[in-house]
Amino acid sequence: MSIDIDDFLTTVAGAVAHLQVPVVDLIAVQTSDPYRILVATILSARTKDEVTALAADRLFRLAEDIAALSRLSEERIAKAIYPVGFYKSKARYLKQLPESLQSFNNIIPETIEELVTLPGVGRKTANLVRNVAFHKPAICVDTHVHRIMNIWEYVTTDSPLKTEMVLREKLPEHHWPNVNSLLVAFGQSICRPVSPQCDICPLAGKCPQRGVMPRKNMKKSSPADQKPYRFISWNVNGIRAVEQKGFAEMLLGFDADIIALQETKAQPDQLSPELKNILGYTSYWHSAERKGYSGVAFYSRIEPLAILTGLNEPEFDCEGRVLTLEFSSFYLINIYFPNSADGLKRLDFKLRFNDALLKFADDLRQKKTVVLCGDFNVAHKPIDLKNPAANVKNAGFTPEERAWMDGFVAAGFIDTFRIFNQEAEQYTWWSYRFNARAKNIGWRIDYFCVDAGSLEKVHDAAILKEVMGSDHCPVQLEYLP
Ligand code: SF4
Repeated sequence: MSIDIDDFLTTVAGAVAHLQVPVVDLIAVQTSDPYRILVATILSARTKDEVTALAADRLFRLAEDIAALSRLSEERIAKAIYPVGFYKSKARYLKQLPESLQSFNNIIPETIEELVTLPGVGRKTANLVRNVAFHKPAICVDTHVHRIMNIWEYVTTDSPLKTEMVLREKLPEHHWPNVNSLLVAFGQSICRPVSPQCDICPLAGKCPQRGVMPRKNMKKSSPADQKPYRFISWNVNGIRAVEQKGFAEMLLGFDADIIALQETKAQPDQLSPELKNILGYTSYWHSAERKGYSGVAFYSRIEPLAILTGLNEPEFDCEGRVLTLEFSSFYLINIYFPNSADGLKRLDFKLRFNDALLKFADDLRQKKTVVLCGDFNVAHKPIDLKNPAANVKNAGFTPEERAWMDGFVAAGFIDTFRIFNQEAEQYTWWSYRFNARAKNIGWRIDYFCVDAGSLEKVHDAAILKEVMGSDHCPVQLEYLP
C-alpha cells in the first residue's frame, strides 16, 4: 500500500491545527537568535513543552547570550533549568557550550557536521536548529517522525538515522521544515505510541497501520465538556532505583492527573528534593517502618479533600501498604498487597490483609464511589499468567488468593482492564530472570478496579507495557469524575 504523502501531511496539519505550537518553534517566532533556539532545543529533549518553556525563560533571564552563559556555574545552570529531563547532563553540556563555540568564532554554526560537534547536540537537535534557526533544508527525525513514517509504510527502516536518509531522498522538500512539528503534535495527541486513537483518526481507512495495536474501539464517548482524568498505577520496585532511570521525566511524560506508586521502598527523609518536588504535582507518602521495604505514594495534580493513611490496623499499617485520597465524588485507594512469599509463609497474613482491605473499601463505598489500584500480587484467572498449570501452588496464583479475588468481584468490584480487553498474554509483571520480559512470560497482577457505582465513569483502561524501569509496567485508567 502506497500512501499519498501530500494528502497525509495536509490531513495531519488540519488535525493538529488547534494544538499548541512546539516550544522550539514558539521560541523561533519570538526570536531569530540561534543561541536561544539551540539552547531551547537542547533543553526540550525528553521534556514536556511547558516545562521547557519555563526552564528556557529562567535561563535566558540569567544568560541572554553566550558570553553571559560562560559566566554561570554548572550548578547555577542546573538550578535554573530544573526539572527538564536529564537536567544535570544538560547543565554540563551548556556549561561546555561557550568553550566549544570558540572554534566557530563564538557563533552558532549552520551545518549539521559542525553542529553535532557541540556538547549535547545530536543529529536530531542539529537538524532542528539548522531548520528553525537558519531556515536551511533539514529534516529533523525524532521518535515520532520515525515511528509514524514507518506506520504509514512511507519508509521501512529500523532507526531514526535511516529514516532521515530515506526521507532526504523521498520526501518533497517543501515538507521538510514542518514535518517534525506536525508529526510530534500528531504523535502526542492522536497517533500515540501507546494505544493510538485510530477510532478517531482522520487517516483511518487509508493508513496502513503497520505494526499498530489500536486502542479498543469500546471507549465510551463522553460529554464534550467532560474530560476524563488519567490515573496511572505503577509498582516501581524502589523509587530511588527508578529515579536513576529517569523517573521524573517518565512521570511528566505520563501526563497523568494522578500517579499511584507501590513498593517505593523509601521513607520521606530518604527522598531527594527532585523526587519530592516534581513540577505540577504534590506527593503523598505512606512508608513502611522498616527501611527499604514496601511503601506506597501518590503524585497528584488534583488537590484532595483528605488523605487517609493505612487501614487503621497497626499489623498492616506498619508496612505502608495503603494510602487513600478523597475527592468530592470518589475515593482513590492505592494498595500494595502483601506477597504470599516462598513456601506461602505469608499467605495467612495476606488473606487477613485482603479481608481488612475489602472491609475498608466496602465502608468507603457507602459514602461515595471507589477506585482501587495497585499491585494486587495475584493473577486472578488462568488467562492472567503465562503458565497457570505450573503455578497453582505458587504465591500469587494459589486457590486461596484466587478465591479471595473471586469474592472481591462477587462483592461488586470490577476489574476495569477486562471490560476492554479479553485477550491472553496481557501482563504487567515479568521476572527479571530468564529474559522473561522479552519473551513475554509474565503475570497480570496490577489492576485498576472500581465499585459498581463507578462503572459508568470508566472511560478506558490499558496496560502501558512499553514503559520500562521496573519489573512491573504501569497500568492506566481514564475515569470521568
Ligand atoms: S490510523 Fe491509527 S496508526 Fe494510522 S495514523 Fe491514525 S492513529 Fe496512527
